[in-house]
Amino acid sequence: MVEETDIAVVGAGGGGAVLALALAQKGIRTIVLEQAPGPPQGLRGEILQPNGQQVLDQLGLLSTLPGESTRTVQKFHFCRVGGERLCTVDYGDLPPPYNRAVVTLPNVAHHAILNAIEREPSVSLRYQSTFTGLLREKDRVVGLTAKQGEAQCSIQAKVVVGADGAFSKVREALQIPAELHLYPQGYLIAMLDAARPMDDAKYFVGKRTILGMFPAAGSKVYAFYMIRAGSYDSVKAQGLPALQEAWIKIDPSSEPIFRTLTDWKQTAFMPTGRVRTPTWVADGAVLIGDAAHAMNPHASQGRMQAMVDAMTLADLLPECLATNEYSATKLRTYETARRPQVTMLQKLADEQVLFWNTANPVIGFLRDRVFSTLDRNARLRYRVLSTTAGLRKDPPFGMMDRLMAAGFLPDPSARDVAAGGIR
Ligand SMILES: Cc1cc2nc3c(=O)[nH]c(=O)nc-3n(C[C@H](O)[C@H](O)[C@H](O)COP(=O)(O)OP(=O)(O)OC[C@H]3O[C@@H](n4cnc5c(N)ncnc54)[C@H](O)[C@@H]3O)c2cc1C
Repeated sequence: MVEETDIAVVGAGGGGAVLALALAQKGIRTIVLEQAPGPPQGLRGEILQPNGQQVLDQLGLLSTLPGESTRTVQKFHFCRVGGERLCTVDYGDLPPPYNRAVVTLPNVAHHAILNAIEREPSVSLRYQSTFTGLLREKDRVVGLTAKQGEAQCSIQAKVVVGADGAFSKVREALQIPAELHLYPQGYLIAMLDAARPMDDAKYFVGKRTILGMFPAAGSKVYAFYMIRAGSYDSVKAQGLPALQEAWIKIDPSSEPIFRTLTDWKQTAFMPTGRVRTPTWVADGAVLIGDAAHAMNPHASQGRMQAMVDAMTLADLLPECLATNEYSATKLRTYETARRPQVTMLQKLADEQVLFWNTANPVIGFLRDRVFSTLDRNARLRYRVLSTTAGLRKDPPFGMMDRLMAAGFLPDPSARDVAAGGIR
């Protein structure tokens, strides 16, 4: 059976789902193939940064997220292992209305997007449908093949979008070379409970130690704990009390919260990787999100960037359809708009990996010194905040800023938040 559509999207993750909904709102016929049996149910990172909130708002979904499943967080305290506060970042310093972080219960925003897609007549979202290959005419991609349940199918499409994650099969089929780096550390995520709602987020750094604690809806708390990739089973084998003791050493004041970890089912492991590719486009095909540019989660922006990719591409595709022009040259407009911010964030996240994940006491000393400077320096702090919030395209620090952040130079504009402005 050969079907025909305008846009075929492979993957209904953070990028693919937003793209499908944005295209539907423009009345563009879209088929989305997702290999999973249904909407995701597991634990994952659920912090909506201001740029992600803006995307959801543009799609008409931000205000519809159920209040009992979301939590606004204003302040993030960065602390040394043991509890000493180094720096506090306040999202309230950002321009309204997105001057906050939003933490949701697992998959709340994603389910809202998937539910909205299901209501759109121009989109067909198909679960248990796995991409198997591309259809080509000469060198141009003109569609794809997939396995839907047990049936093989072919879909002719004007543009095929690979939104299928870091290990993208669409990228492989396009023969786009990719440098895939798997970081030696990943994250054990846990959903915990507090006796009363936690006020602010806390993020502890120490010798090869990172523990993030983010207030979620009600009095839930998300914990993110860095562990060696591949060590989840051995962490489990040591038992829950061993993990709780490790956390109590990091933040003794949160012992009652850590004691609410009573079952490994409250946890999950998330590996971390980075993807770099020389191009995100081909004649008749595009990559978005992690398929094009996965990044370390220190940036807190991977999914947000996939969403912004989707919106940027959704703005370009109507013009492609109107002019019947799907060449790599035309589609590159999207890549040109998106690459600078993504590249900047990938580099920044890797610098953070170097400084935050370190076991080296000198690098750790410098990291803590930078945090302490940021606490006193409103200009540099705003630069970092606006970058994490997804509002900056340029790197937050130039060479002089780095020297000031490390405390080697005074900063005459330290109190001048406007000088830390968004670019
Ligand atoms: C520990 C951790 C914490 C994170 N925290 C944050 C955070 O706070 N904020 C943030 O913005 N980002 C965060 N991220 C990053 C974020 O999870 C990813 O960047 C984001 O999910 C990328 O979206 P995507 O749509 O590109 O890919 P994915 O979400 O991976 O979606 C790809 C989809 O494609 C499907 N698929 C794959 N292959 C096929 C195939 N052959 N056929 C059909 N379907 C297929 C998959 O099933 C999946 O549904 C975090 C990541 C980690 C590891």
